[in-house]
Amino acid sequence: MMFSELGLSPKTLEAVTAAGYTTPTPIQAEAIPPALARRDVMGLAQTGSGKTAAFVLPMLSLLEKGRARARMPRTLILEPTRELADQVREAFETLGKMHNLNVALLIGGVAFEPQALKIDRGADVVIATPGRLMDHFERGKLLLTGIDMLVIDEADRMLDMGFIPDIEKICKLLPFTRQTLFFSATMPPEIQRLTAQFLSNPVRVEVSNRSSTAETITQMLVKAPHEAKAKRDTLRQLLRTQTNVKNGIIFANRKTTVALLEKSLKVHGFNAGALHGDMDQSARMKTLQGFRNNEITYLIASDVAARGLDIPEVSHVFNFDVPTHAEDYVHRIGRTGRAGREGQAFTLVTKEEGKYWKGIESLIKKEIPYFDLGEGTGADEATDEAPARSERKPRRESKPREPRAEKPKAEAAPRAPKAPREPRPEQPKPAAPVQARAEDQRSPRPERHAPQKRSDRHPQRDVSDAPDSHSFHDGNMPAFLMRSVKVG
Ligand code: AMP
Repeated sequence: MMFSELGLSPKTLEAVTAAGYTTPTPIQAEAIPPALARRDVMGLAQTGSGKTAAFVLPMLSLLEKGRARARMPRTLILEPTRELADQVREAFETLGKMHNLNVALLIGGVAFEPQALKIDRGADVVIATPGRLMDHFERGKLLLTGIDMLVIDEADRMLDMGFIPDIEKICKLLPFTRQTLFFSATMPPEIQRLTAQFLSNPVRVEVSNRSSTAETITQMLVKAPHEAKAKRDTLRQLLRTQTNVKNGIIFANRKTTVALLEKSLKVHGFNAGALHGDMDQSARMKTLQGFRNNEITYLIASDVAARGLDIPEVSHVFNFDVPTHAEDYVHRIGRTGRAGREGQAFTLVTKEEGKYWKGIESLIKKEIPYFDLGEGTGADEATDEAPARSERKPRRESKPREPRAEKPKAEAAPRAPKAPREPRPEQPKPAAPVQARAEDQRSPRPERHAPQKRSDRHPQRDVSDAPDSHSFHDGNMPAFLMRSVKVG
């Protein structure tokens, strides 16, 4: 199948060639023709499948006719996160070069007025997160009655983030005759209900779900203790055994853990940056850019924050927590070992996480061996119910790897992997939980319409402000966080 066979306009085909795309991906080949025929499309596809172009390209072709009117955008794309929205904007920049369209990005965390001004001048395309879109609508800055085409992207993530009520509200504000392109990686019942309600006789397009992991990725499990500080110690020991890290992503299940890990790793001298839902947009973009430019070696991220981000090939993925949703594991480790390159993926697993790990192994149909960190991890007794496996010895250097950043200020220099076990963490000081709560309260919500209820399907996602189960309230407030230290 060629792009020229899909029915795209000559101008759009020119843009495709200029972007360097030679053949359509399966989702593009299947979704573009019905989209151009003004049919509703329900696409089961994941990030990385080329689904952005699957809706951007037909949209470009269809927008060639007609023009935008003040406050009445012609098309609307809903994205669950600011980063995804920004990536779609970038796709319009790349693919829409020949079209001279007005594209308005309505996302939270940045100034309201410039966005309102853009809509005022007439937007051909609005790319929005649900909360900020509703803000504009409720302030009377936006009329949704001119929307010809609606794209709902990453619908299952919208569900995870509690945005479904907003989506329903928005759909009801749009013209009944609009065309809807709907994309989701999975189809849980809530999503099926939504499609039944808001899609009209859709063409169903499905590209195979990724349940397998690339052979080029070396996957390893690392036994870890449940207690938070000891688990962070295990992570640092693991990082120090890895001598060939070009860049790595450290995934955690919750944004509170992400923030804590960032502070902790920096204090211990690692060159780390964090990406989580409570950071403002410019901070997230800055971190991401730093990681892309190799100024940041370790990017700590939650699934929601990292979802769909165009992050370059990484040499290592570290799962600080076992993802509770098995498919997230495939997504996470898919950040490495791309295009036949070698990648390393390590997953810290505690006894308590064993049940989630079992789910992952049955999805990927592989048994993953343990990586032996040596003595002092405090892990053995903690994971005695974890699946029995052979252990591989770490590839060690005679000298442990030095972290890339400055010397730690608060704690000692990196230890050798076989260092004797550290004493158990101190008991919490009374002020600690108070400090943690105060910090949580200060954190801005990513959207005005904060996630309302976490889905039962994903009990540990990055959508809760509650500290994770092995966090401050367990009495694990690390000592360094209670001291005033300058981190850098
Ligand atoms: P997506 O799944 O939309 O996030 O796309 C993943 C990546 O694939 C992006 O970097 C796109 O630029 C790229 N891409 C999309 N379609 C094609 C294509 N037909 N040929 C080559 N690369 C593509």
